[in-house]
Amino acid sequence: MIYLDNHATTPCDPRVAEQMMPWLVEHFGNPHSTSHEMGRQAKSAIDTSLGVIASRLGIAADSVLITSGATESNNLAIDGICRHPRQRRRHVVTSTIEHPAVLDVVARLEKDGFRVTRVPVHANDHQLAGQIDLDQLAATIDDDTALVSVHWANNEIGVIQPMESIAEIAHRSGALFHSDATQAVGRIDVDLKRVDVDLISASAHKFYGPKGVGLLTIAGGMAARRVRLKPMIVGGGQQRNLRSGTMSPANVIAMATALELAITESALVAERVSQMRSQLWNGLVQGIDGISSNGPPANPSRRLVGNLNCRLPGIEGESWMAACSDVAFSSGSACSSVDAKPSHVLTGLGLSESEARRSVRFGIGKFNTPDQIDRAIDLLVAGYQNLTR
Ligand code: PLP
Repeated sequence: MIYLDNHATTPCDPRVAEQMMPWLVEHFGNPHSTSHEMGRQAKSAIDTSLGVIASRLGIAADSVLITSGATESNNLAIDGICRHPRQRRRHVVTSTIEHPAVLDVVARLEKDGFRVTRVPVHANDHQLAGQIDLDQLAATIDDDTALVSVHWANNEIGVIQPMESIAEIAHRSGALFHSDATQAVGRIDVDLKRVDVDLISASAHKFYGPKGVGLLTIAGGMAARRVRLKPMIVGGGQQRNLRSGTMSPANVIAMATALELAITESALVAERVSQMRSQLWNGLVQGIDGISSNGPPANPSRRLVGNLNCRLPGIEGESWMAACSDVAFSSGSACSSVDAKPSHVLTGLGLSESEARRSVRFGIGKFNTPDQIDRAIDLLVAGYQNLTR
């Protein structure tokens, strides 16, 4: 199997897994039981890792909250801000192409009486394809806007959003700015000393860490605005009463290790991955007449370098996937593949439902090789020919 679905998840880097092991088997103390040495040892390892994560993101260590992943982080950020007892503002703004872990949270707020605006993105044929329409964003914000939540980079078309401009617009009216940075952290520069975002969400398994651990940063950025969050998970109050539950030293250490590796190796990885992305695209264009690309141009400041989203003439993405079972890729986001509707990201780009259904997503990662890409091209082209012949 050739794995080309690195936006859905990435394999855990063996160097990360190696760091976790002693904290699972040997040093298994509860980091919140600090009355004895084993607990203190676990707490100290967590504190060190929080420091690493924070400094890599450009914030203070006490601004990082550990969660089970970006879904929980997005829920906590959006619900937590809007449902806080002292929140007076009743308007939430997001984009039409967010992950369901944002869209479903705002939809539930809407049902509960909040006003929600979903700002469109520029169409596929526009030079800013996939980027949020900043004029419409500015026009919708008012002094009732509690929160603007716009992702940093998209999981289907890899578009990178204009973060500085969104932050400036959101803050004009005193709204907070949350960004689902799940596809950005570890792949591109996410420096909260440079970009004025109040909260970001991420998941370790998108940057070669384990699944089931993620983070939410809170107000640790440039302006350190006051963020009041209503906790979702209550209990022992372990993380400053904002998120209860015993923390896992192995997971936190793994996330810190994975983040350090991803950031220190990012330039090299980006160069390799970008070459393999061109190799894949060129191979598909040569083998499949009329194939076209969805989303922004392959420019590293506009699109994640490993992302390719393309549209086939004549056949549905699902059929192509079934015909190419030795290649792992996806016909939409993995997280919504239970849902038979065409991708809302692609229809949000202005594609018709039929065009969206004829589209697939590839995500190339650091463990792919040029040889794998060559073999994948052969399999993909042969699969397409079998279906259309
Ligand atoms: N946000 C984005 C942009 C994602 O790509 C994903 C996962 O695909 C998530 C949130 C949810 O992450 P998790 O399933 O790790 O909670």
